[in-house]
Amino acid sequence: MSDQRLPRAEPPRAPLTNVFIDHSREALRARFAAEGISPHWAEQVFSWIYRRGVYDLSAMEDLPQDLRERLAGSWSFRTLETKEVQRSVDGTRKLLLSCWDGEVVEAVLIPEARRTTLCVSTQVGCALACSFCATGALGFTRNLSAGEIVDQVLCAGESLEPGETLTNVVFMGMGEPLLNLPAVHEAIRVMTDQRGLALAPRRITVSTSGVIPKIRPLLEIGSINLAVSLHATTDEVRDHLVPLNKRYSLQALMSALRAEERLSRKRPVFFEYTLIEGVNDSLEDARRLPELLKGIPSKLNLIPMNPHSASDYRPPTTEVCDAFAAEVHAAGVRVMLRKNRGRDISAACGQLARRSGAAQPGASLARSGAASR
Ligand code: SAH
Ligand code: SF4
Repeated sequence: MSDQRLPRAEPPRAPLTNVFIDHSREALRARFAAEGISPHWAEQVFSWIYRRGVYDLSAMEDLPQDLRERLAGSWSFRTLETKEVQRSVDGTRKLLLSCWDGEVVEAVLIPEARRTTLCVSTQVGCALACSFCATGALGFTRNLSAGEIVDQVLCAGESLEPGETLTNVVFMGMGEPLLNLPAVHEAIRVMTDQRGLALAPRRITVSTSGVIPKIRPLLEIGSINLAVSLHATTDEVRDHLVPLNKRYSLQALMSALRAEERLSRKRPVFFEYTLIEGVNDSLEDARRLPELLKGIPSKLNLIPMNPHSASDYRPPTTEVCDAFAAEVHAAGVRVMLRKNRGRDISAACGQLARRSGAAQPGASLARSGAASR
């Protein structure tokens, strides 16, 4: 569907080079050292950015004047501009953030009783074309840079309301994080650095549709959470819903997860299962699921399909969803049936499909059902 891409609303700005927030602290120290600048000053710039929220070299008083002038000529701070914040009646907010080239990235802020979660995007569009996902229907445009991922957190921080604190980040927006791993890793380094955004690794969750060879490299970053999008209990159905399954089958995926060393430390894997009427919602599926998950400490999230204009799939009835959840629960699986959130602003799992700088086609069509993450 990328041929339906609409013209950009704004002319592209110049591409960004030398962006501070593209770098972890270690990488910034190395860049400064390579340019003959003491790494000490990298530490100072880093703390001005993340501790004090200052994005202006002239305000960084403890940096030597000549260094400030030198950096000002070739380095920049931010990568995204907040274009719009759409608000759901339930408090969920969708941030529309524009990039230097006119692409628009979506991030979703989800306030809950005891936490506030930000769902970040990692790519513009997605190449994996899952048949139920609005992002997949867009096709792939490009990877986001580490700075564009970090900046989603900075922009969200600027749109927090009094009393709100960002507590969790989930990589469940547009794109497949494991196909943009270097940028995802660098962004996680900034997020978890005590002198960066200072989020505990266990408050970060990365979701994958099952890119097996990248799972272990992903987890080498530390004790973040892994979420795996399952959606089916047979290869036949999964091939259809998640075409990547033709390359990495269900059995191969589950074996790879079973082999993960971290499982010996009993860190659960979060499995996501989008319930689609008449496709994967039968009681036979519910009975096969516990078999599939055997040997993997897991938590299962059931997400009723969020409808959108690029797909004919529909969510099952509440009764069918409840019966499915009860069946897997009875087999001893820790299961959560996700509630609808943000149904009025298309901010739910799989509904993010903003095209470049222009209005969304079909945005006025009824789109209901937004699951909280
Ligand atoms: N690409 C990654 C992460 C982004 S998608 C992945 O696929 O895991 C985040 C979650 O939303 C995934 O579990 C995805 O399968 C699910 N999802 C996609 N489209 C959906 C839809 N229309 N309704 C409900 N969940 C959907
Ligand atoms: Fe890509 Fe995930 Fe959507 Fe599949 S569900 S198309 S992997 S964003």
